[in-house]
Amino acid sequence: MSDMRLVVVGAAGRMGRMLIRAIDQADGCTLVAAIERPGSAALGEDAGILAGLPASGIKVTSDAAAAFASADGVLDFTAPDATVAFAKLAADAGILHVVGTTGLEPTHLAELAEAAKRTPIIRSGNMSLGVNLLAALVRKVAATLGTDWDIEIVEMHHRMKVDAPSGTAVLLGEAAAEGRAVDLAQQRVAGRDGITGARQAGTIGFAALRGGTVVGDHKVIFAGAGERLELAHVAEDRSLFAQGAVKAALWGRGREARLYSMADVLGLDA
Ligand code: NAP
Repeated sequence: MSDMRLVVVGAAGRMGRMLIRAIDQADGCTLVAAIERPGSAALGEDAGILAGLPASGIKVTSDAAAAFASADGVLDFTAPDATVAFAKLAADAGILHVVGTTGLEPTHLAELAEAAKRTPIIRSGNMSLGVNLLAALVRKVAATLGTDWDIEIVEMHHRMKVDAPSGTAVLLGEAAAEGRAVDLAQQRVAGRDGITGARQAGTIGFAALRGGTVVGDHKVIFAGAGERLELAHVAEDRSLFAQGAVKAALWGRGREARLYSMADVLGLDA
């Protein structure tokens, strides 16, 4: 089979550059376009150079529709509104859309679900094997322990991160909620400050720390009476998210239009 032709949107971002490198290192795929928003300082730059590689001959442009027309898939770690716009364009072009963008609100998710009726979309708040395995463990532990065990999720990320809790923390919270057969939206408590009152049984708490260059630390705490169970993951290098996204793209090639998760890609229990 010919190489999968991939587009990176948000190519000049922290993850965008990683994605260009991950595509370069992977077998079975090739970069065909790199997209940034109109007016970006990166327009016209060589995508390879931007990513710290030799020149690729591919210049960064802002014409996503033209790029998608001659591609098989798009890797998207940008921002929620941009991701929704790219989902429509990817569906129009009938190409696979791999979404790593976090901070998506229910309205964004509804738009992605709509686009996924026309083209396959693989979305995950975390593309690493370790975190998706952790989510499966959290689901199992939450299903085993009763609501007399309080669930708290603590995360820390670098100082540039703009959304909280992290997409990974939400993914882990969703896994805990699924294990307990409850709706996370009904049980979620984030950002305690001041006189909050006692903790309500059954809630799932989130705490977000920001600072330095931390790639991503997550801990899920099950706190019972007199004992505590803690499950944690530490991401040491963001290239693992980019490699996961490329793996997802290769897995998703030729799949039917639907919304997929990283658990599907990795063959983990949903
Ligand atoms: P970043 O450095 O700010 O990169 C985002 C890039 O997207 C920027 O270059 C930005 O350009 C560009 N962009 C935004 N809107 C655009 C548009 N409409 N058209 C084209 N390009 C656009 O952020 P990052 O650290 O790479 O993170 C990006 C996203 O990935 C975040 O949501 C983050 O939480 C998520 N993430 C997910 C995972 C995972 O495994 N799922 C791992 C790491 C990060 P401007 O600078 O001009 O806005």
